[in-house]
Amino acid sequence: MAVFVYAENINGIYKKAAFEAVSYAKAVAEKMGEKVSAITVNPSDSSDLLYKYGADNVISIKDDGLKNFSAKAYAQAVNEVANGNIIVFPHTTDASSIAPMLAIMNNYSLITNVLEAPESISPFQVKRRAFSGKGFMHAKADAQGVIITVSQNAFGVKENPVAGTEEVKNLSVANEDTKVISHEQSSGKLDLKEAEIVVSAGRGMKAPENWGMIEDLAGLLGAATACSKPVSDIGWRPHSEHVGQTGKAISPNLYIAVGISGAIQHLAGVNSSKTIVVINSDPEAPFFKSADYGVVGDAFQIIPELTQKIKALKG
Ligand SMILES: Cc1cc2nc3c(=O)[nH]c(=O)nc-3n(C[C@H](O)[C@H](O)[C@H](O)COP(=O)(O)OP(=O)(O)OC[C@H]3O[C@@H](n4cnc5c(N)ncnc54)[C@H](O)[C@@H]3O)c2cc1C
Repeated sequence: MAVFVYAENINGIYKKAAFEAVSYAKAVAEKMGEKVSAITVNPSDSSDLLYKYGADNVISIKDDGLKNFSAKAYAQAVNEVANGNIIVFPHTTDASSIAPMLAIMNNYSLITNVLEAPESISPFQVKRRAFSGKGFMHAKADAQGVIITVSQNAFGVKENPVAGTEEVKNLSVANEDTKVISHEQSSGKLDLKEAEIVVSAGRGMKAPENWGMIEDLAGLLGAATACSKPVSDIGWRPHSEHVGQTGKAISPNLYIAVGISGAIQHLAGVNSSKTIVVINSDPEAPFFKSADYGVVGDAFQIIPELTQKIKALKG
């Protein structure tokens, strides 16, 4: 029986999280000696992109009723085509609202925020993130089937090219619960949850007009920008950049925190970053305890210097 994976796309374009979920599904399928079937809804990208990470088969759902996202309608559509005991989702906002519905529909176990390939397949047992990223848990699925969501940037995107095949499924799922009245999209910005590098700043930046240096540094590094809660609360930065317990939880490879004290609620959303660099003028700032690298000093001096050094290195 194939391992199924939900390959999320945004307006038809696959997200990096989809490639990571397919890579994960491939690792599971290989342990079982099985194939990977990727499910996607109204894609415009080529299925070749999924074959590259190990999808042996792509089930491409075509349904005009699914042009606007609704967790319930998407769960119904995925449920119509996924007939396996293991279904993998990326831990994105949309996918992590479909996954629990599918678990209920099938009476399957649900294990979210999975970090590594499973420790065993039968029973399905795996390490997952717990306690807002402050700890880990080894979870075992008791039901006959299991639905998992894979934490972003945890397993990684792994190429595993196969000669895949595509199946088109024309569906017409009722999508009547929610009507989209208007639709706004922040364009041109790197998706914070998917970013490999994040430059984040807090109240230590003193005023919104000082964010130019943060954006310059982020631009140079190909990074997304983030901020602490009070910064978005007072309107210095958009709420979409707020990270932490009440904001987005992220796990980039590199998190650079500038002028952020490191309150526990902030750490809850960022402490699973692979490497943390803290720049703070107060040597006693709590964030230094969680940092891999710490720089004690004035951000207004350090950030421009750092930016210049990186520019010079890049030639
Ligand atoms: C229920 C609840 C939920 C919360 N959720 C979140 C959340 O999701 N995310 C979040 O971020 N917070 C959250 N908070 C708020 C959190 O407790 C902190 O108040 C907040 O994170 C502090 O933001 P900050 O570090 O930007 O500001 P501050 O605590 O004011 O820290 C500013 C830092 O900048 C440093 N600094 C000042 N000047 C400079 C300079 N020139 N150069 C370098 N460093 C400088 C200071 O030394 C200080 O460490 C929550 C709080 C509660 C009660």
